[in-house]
Amino acid sequence: MSDVVLTFFCPVTKGPIEWDTPHDVKTLVTHWSKSVRLPCPHCSSEHSFSFREAYVEAVITRLEKQAKAKPAPAGFAVLERTK
Ligand SMILES: [Zn+2]
Repeated sequence: MSDVVLTFFCPVTKGPIEWDTPHDVKTLVTHWSKSVRLPCPHCSSEHSFSFREAYVEAVITRLEKQAKAKPAPAGFAVLERTK
């Protein structure tokens, strides 16, 4: 599976800040309960964000996109998710 792009929002300008995070268990365990500090391209300072919140949101967004891209018959929905 490809990397997950986490999107944070600059608290000052509300601009989106994207961060590619490796999609593997080690990264998840390391970052899960922590905050991530990212340089902001919008206001040139650094912000910290909750990794967990952003990750969950990114995964949900991805699932929604996949669901829209190829609507599966109801019977397939569960199988798709176990991948
Ligand atoms: Zn900012």
